[in-house]
Amino acid sequence: MLAMSRSPIIAGNWKMYKTIAQALSFVKTLPKFLEDTSQKVYLAAPFTSISQVAQESKGTSIVIGAQNMNDASEGAFTGEIAAKMLVDAGAKFVILGHSERRHIFQEDDAFINMKVKKALSEGLQVILCIGETLKEREGGQTRQVLQKQLQGSLQDVHPKEGEVVVAYEPVWAIGTGQTASPEMAQETHKECRDILSEILGEELAQKTVLQYGGSVKPENVKVLMSQPDIDGVLVGGASLDPEVFAKIANYQS
Ligand code: PEP
Repeated sequence: MLAMSRSPIIAGNWKMYKTIAQALSFVKTLPKFLEDTSQKVYLAAPFTSISQVAQESKGTSIVIGAQNMNDASEGAFTGEIAAKMLVDAGAKFVILGHSERRHIFQEDDAFINMKVKKALSEGLQVILCIGETLKEREGGQTRQVLQKQLQGSLQDVHPKEGEVVVAYEPVWAIGTGQTASPEMAQETHKECRDILSEILGEELAQKTVLQYGGSVKPENVKVLMSQPDIDGVLVGGASLDPEVFAKIANYQS
């Protein structure tokens, strides 16, 4: 196995929370709580505030992105948003395939695959989310599900180093307060890396940042981040308050 050093990525997903004023207040406050301001922190903002928070975050360690997009370049798709528009607003990355998109809005791997290709072609970094439901885990199908999601979402995608981050988020751990144990998370991350190796090749798989997501908090981030195949975290609920989120980003202290 190749020994690789992967830069950690701590990312917050604000979901459908925060007005523009609240989002601006967050990005103005966060740097005051960050111990290492050279370490990038990612924030996926609602569409309405991307432009202003991206502007406000210029020259800081905060990287602004989006939570979703459409795969089309433009067109008559009422209510949708294009990759070009996100780039234009100042987004540097986009979360794709989040379990809420998969389960509430019935997005499948084929659709997510088209979005991944479009996002990369427009220069957006992708945080690709995958994860099994409780039923699938209890039925012993975890590896099979992750393999299907990764293969389907990355079909004919040839990313360069750093362009695709994979967030493993067990559906049963998102927003439930129930976190995967560090051992279980590590074991599944290792499986994800093995699957990625089959899809992208060993070298790229070793260089790919794998995030854990699912009820990450200041209290559990350190032990999760100490696992060899966990290179970052994707944080929902605990990313809404700058002080709490900074405690997660300061996990090394
Ligand atoms: C998420 O939205 O990706 C997430 C992991 O949420 P939470 O941290 O609230 O479980």
